[in-house]
Amino acid sequence: MGMHQNFIGGRFRPTTGGDVIPVLNPARDTVISEIPDSSADAVAQAVAAAKRAQPAWEKLPAIQRAKYLRQISAKIRANAAKIARVISEEQGKILGLAEVEAHFTADYIDYMAEWARRIEGEVIQSDRPGENIFLFRQALGVVAGILPWNFPFFLIARKMAPALITGNTIVIKPSEETPNNAALFASLVQETELPEGVFNIVYGRGATTGRALTLHEDVRMVSFTGSVDTGSKIMADAARNITKVNLELGGKAPAIVLADADLDLAARAIKQSRVLNTGQVCNAPERVYVDRKVADAFVAKLTAEMKSTRYGDPLADDKLDMGPIINKSGLQKIDHLVSGAIAQGAQAILGGKVADLGAGNHYEPTVLVNCRQDMDIVQKEIFGPVLPVVTVSDLDEAIAMANDTVYGLTSSIYTNDIRCALKACNELHFGETYVNRENFEAMQGFHAGRGRSGIGGADGKHGVLEYTQTHLAYIQT
Ligand code: NAD
Repeated sequence: MGMHQNFIGGRFRPTTGGDVIPVLNPARDTVISEIPDSSADAVAQAVAAAKRAQPAWEKLPAIQRAKYLRQISAKIRANAAKIARVISEEQGKILGLAEVEAHFTADYIDYMAEWARRIEGEVIQSDRPGENIFLFRQALGVVAGILPWNFPFFLIARKMAPALITGNTIVIKPSEETPNNAALFASLVQETELPEGVFNIVYGRGATTGRALTLHEDVRMVSFTGSVDTGSKIMADAARNITKVNLELGGKAPAIVLADADLDLAARAIKQSRVLNTGQVCNAPERVYVDRKVADAFVAKLTAEMKSTRYGDPLADDKLDMGPIINKSGLQKIDHLVSGAIAQGAQAILGGKVADLGAGNHYEPTVLVNCRQDMDIVQKEIFGPVLPVVTVSDLDEAIAMANDTVYGLTSSIYTNDIRCALKACNELHFGETYVNRENFEAMQGFHAGRGRSGIGGADGKHGVLEYTQTHLAYIQT
């Protein structure tokens, strides 16, 4: 694929100077492309292009903005197979899931286009005679979208589509791990009639390109998805210009399995979610709390499910359940957490180590029992195909342990008792609770974390409004 060029003002532009970052296939350890570590100057060019394009874009009726969004979604559908291969090659997800990602991205853009006729202000009663108070919903201006690598193509749309339909323009910084799909996205955008400067992409590391974007005074909102540590740094940098932040951060999702649950369903759903994208999904179960009375039966079923997981190089075998971990440091982090838990008394009844397939970053599907609440494996985000299991006496204890975390993104419960399900929904301190199922979230819902899992959210009506600002008009006649 060679060296990617930033997409600024509707054109691909070479960057001079600065580091060159190699992009690896995580299943094969081979270099597949390169990106520039774009400087503050390159970022400033992209922000300037977005700023120039924004007033005219905002003045268009929203239904016309929607027309351009639908041109992009049509291009994505027509190229879904190609997009899927590019995602799979650089990120390591299996082709089937990469195809789902491509099609879901197109559907998501269409869904956001539908908001064109639904973005509404308010008319508010005045205390004064002869006065009308109008609340307008207006664009913020230039939005920056800073992305992780785990659903890299979809996340471009999750930032771009609500930003554009509400009249903002955007500069996207993809993860340095997964720029190839973003380059393809840009080339598809270039084939549409989208006015130049409305959508821009800059490549580079977080510490250079990402920071320059966050610190730029013309960026009015940073919409970020990624880790808590980076979210915290972005919030600190955004403070300089009082830039709005929308932060979708990490999670440590608890799955609660009660004694009356359908254990087959629970074991299957938890396993499928945990190996999806090789466990690198922010809302997949990261720890299981199972009622002591059914713990042995449940763990046996869960272990059998996890054991059946087929893994390897996703472009060499289309019958796999999961591919590699994104990079060596991710693999080492998982291995460190697992070996630390074993040293503290946990037992790996399945897996528990790096899988040697000759190349790539593979980890064995792992089930850990005898885990305790105070272990790092139960407190820290693993982001891999590893399930620590903790036994509990009842629902109250499970909820207390589930809430004992700095995170608050998603949670799940398996029960056939509606009272237990409702109690969990009322008492779990998480942005989402799934009952008798795991992820994904719905595009018409609202994906938003509590605690250190984030500020603000994405999707649905509330997600659209995140990209607007209010403007009150007091009209005395
Ligand atoms: P990361 O925080 O390491 O990187 C994310 C992005 O931030 C990258 O583009 C990176 O270059 C950039 N970045 C790094 N430092 C920066 C800085 N100082 N200023 C500006 N930008 C900077 O995260 P990751 O490893 O790419 O992604 C995995 C994490 O993302 C996990 O914690 C996962 O839970 C989280 N995630 C959350 C959601 C959600 O919806 N809440 C969805 C997907 C992933």
